[in-house]
Amino acid sequence: MTLPIVFHPDYQAPLRPGHPFPMSKYGYLRAALVGRGLLPAAGGTVAPAPLSPARVAAVHALTYVERVANVALTAEEARRIGLPNTPAVARRAFLAAAGTLLAARLALEHGHACNMAGGSHHAGPDGGAGYCVFNDVAVAARALVDEGRVRRVLVVDCDVHQGDGTARIFAGRGDVATLSLHAERNFPARKAASDLDYPLPDRLADRAYLEVLAHALGAADTFEPDLLFYNAGVDPHADDRLGRLALTDAGLRARDRRVLSWARARGVPVAAVLGGGYDHDPHRLAARHAILFEEAARLA
Ligand SMILES: [Zn+2]
Repeated sequence: MTLPIVFHPDYQAPLRPGHPFPMSKYGYLRAALVGRGLLPAAGGTVAPAPLSPARVAAVHALTYVERVANVALTAEEARRIGLPNTPAVARRAFLAAAGTLLAARLALEHGHACNMAGGSHHAGPDGGAGYCVFNDVAVAARALVDEGRVRRVLVVDCDVHQGDGTARIFAGRGDVATLSLHAERNFPARKAASDLDYPLPDRLADRAYLEVLAHALGAADTFEPDLLFYNAGVDPHADDRLGRLALTDAGLRARDRRVLSWARARGVPVAAVLGGGYDHDPHRLAARHAILFEEAARLA
């Protein structure tokens, strides 16, 4: 079985030149996956259709979702998100959330699937933040629980920033457990309470990181999820310009392998999402993000 990969060309929305968000990475990642034989030169991916505002409003305030849809965010909302209030950015948000839900449905069918976007974990109940418009993982988890497709969902968030939005959305809910490994001194300044939080010191490197991850997965063992969402952000890498940790390429690979094998050993389907990654060199960044797809395909 090949690895199902979800992609849409409109994941890439035009931004002004020099905008700090690395919007070009989606195209470079596609090329990197072709170069590694994980995708054919054309096609080979599954495309989502945008979600309805009502679906997204299961985890976000409906008025906020409507302001996104109508390209009518307040200046303060757009400032917190850090992306421009444009039709293309709004469409991208609906598509990325749809892509993560589609990846989860494919994972339930095939054992695992990856979305070439998503991991917008700073978006919370009332709105977006930190380059995140909608919390795609939360939208997908909530949709599948509400449909009765799954009873219990585990979110393993290894992006270097805390999954604060996801934690707030699912606070007090027994059916979705949140686990976050993140650099303690990184954004967001005010952390939320995940079910399992592992704040990490600056410049933590491979070996110590992987020990914490093993401990975290051990702690999650009793939850017995029916589905796992994995945020495989590559910003814990030593060369990431926003991360504060010091993982190598090999460390990221070992991390991905450990999470994916943990789920495989327990028969838990995995929907993996891209998460953050920040490098001025888009080729290097795409190569880092490609590690997840290589490891997931290896287990396919
Ligand atoms: Zn991040």
